[in-house]
Amino acid sequence: MMNMRPTVPDLQIDVSNALPLVGDHRSVEGSADVTMRDGYDLVLELGDGITWRFDLRRIAGALEITGAVAGSVGLSCFRCLEDFTYQLSLTLKEHALWLNGEEEQDSETAEDYVVTDGIIDLEPVLRDAVALALPAKRVCDESCKGLCARCGANLNTEPCSCVALPADSRLSPLADLKKRLEGAGDASP
Ligand SMILES: [Zn+2]
Ligand SMILES: [Zn+2]
Repeated sequence: MMNMRPTVPDLQIDVSNALPLVGDHRSVEGSADVTMRDGYDLVLELGDGITWRFDLRRIAGALEITGAVAGSVGLSCFRCLEDFTYQLSLTLKEHALWLNGEEEQDSETAEDYVVTDGIIDLEPVLRDAVALALPAKRVCDESCKGLCARCGANLNTEPCSCVALPADSRLSPLADLKKRLEGAGDASP
């Protein structure tokens, strides 16, 4: 029932009526809750986790979009899988190709954003900007200890007994060798 989710309002703007002439401009504001809890898809829902303000200006053949987005995005930690919020603040400047009537977008010069039938959909603009602003390494804290590879315990909150197990004795000849190699390598940095 994914499509039962209410869509975030204020992102589809009728710029044809709002901006009839080149040079016309107006600003639009809105808010949404944004989460990226599994994988790489941003989920936008009704809420006020982030707020945005876009200034839309009609220029010849295009719509210029400048804007600012700020607030918190719900992520989950790559290491311990716990949810955490990431504080975001960004500005953007984009252009959307303004297609008239039956005009089709030339695939050679494909723009990321288009005004079709006089409507600009700001949702992809918002999504792209937020996705780009998120850290590549999504961890709740630099010092997050993650989950135990054996029992799955969250090592930030509960030390598990696996940790106390002695190192596998089969590894010790390797450990000795490593030690000797490190000792021999003292001459070089
Ligand atoms: Zn974590
Ligand atoms: Zn464990």
